[in-house]
Amino acid sequence: MGPWNVKAGQAGFRMGQTYNLLRFLQIVTLTVGLSLLSLANTARDCAAQAHAQASNQAAKRTVVIDAGHGGSDTGVKGSAGTLEKEVTLRLARLIENRLKDRYQVSLPRTDDYMLAHPDRTGYANHIKADLFISLHTAGSYSAATDGLRVYYYTEPAVKLPAQTQPGEATATPWRKVQKPHIPASSSLAQRILDRAAPLTAPHPGTVQAVPAAVLAGADMPAILIETGYLTNPKQEKNLNDNKYLFKLATAISQGIDDFFNNPDRIAVTDLRE
Ligand SMILES: [Zn+2]
Repeated sequence: MGPWNVKAGQAGFRMGQTYNLLRFLQIVTLTVGLSLLSLANTARDCAAQAHAQASNQAAKRTVVIDAGHGGSDTGVKGSAGTLEKEVTLRLARLIENRLKDRYQVSLPRTDDYMLAHPDRTGYANHIKADLFISLHTAGSYSAATDGLRVYYYTEPAVKLPAQTQPGEATATPWRKVQKPHIPASSSLAQRILDRAAPLTAPHPGTVQAVPAAVLAGADMPAILIETGYLTNPKQEKNLNDNKYLFKLATAISQGIDDFFNNPDRIAVTDLRE
């Protein structure tokens, strides 16, 4: 082999090296490019997904479930020792679970502490809730009294003195806030009773209009549910039974869906009056 061959061989070797290097660089560039493209696509997909989730969240209606009483305010106590404040919080949590896939659900009281009425409705007003439901149990001197009652607000028969100062006439007094929502609240009350009544048989349950202080300041359709009499041993047993509470939570959730799907149900109580 002559010297040129050696040179040619060396040159060929160098050319081969350069070719391999170029090929390698091409592959690296292509791989990095594809990776960057894939990353960009992933980022774009994530952003689109986040946007869709955000719009979905924004489209969800907000429901406030208010667990009545709390802290040293125990509410009614059953003969077996069941406390109203415990039943209401347990039921509120169950309703929250039944609703949270399709609504924004918020609880003013999430643990065992006292909360004033205006703090409960004020909370719902502050977060611009679409619905306010206050949960309670009832008590009676007679152990035989039973049934489920759903209340919506009506103004007190006795005129209360104006709470606004001169010059503050533009502000709506607290007790007037619920007034424009009363027709919707009565419809909501009937929707809930329609679903819950089968659970309370043979007692059919009732819808009533009462001047309940906790509902007065709610700036959205609002009702109060007395889920049963803790002073009635049979109902106390039911309200201590998680299976019964789950059924009740399901019925209340279905009533909420019914209300939003068709809010124009006329409360039976309205027809009687
Ligand atoms: Zn109560």
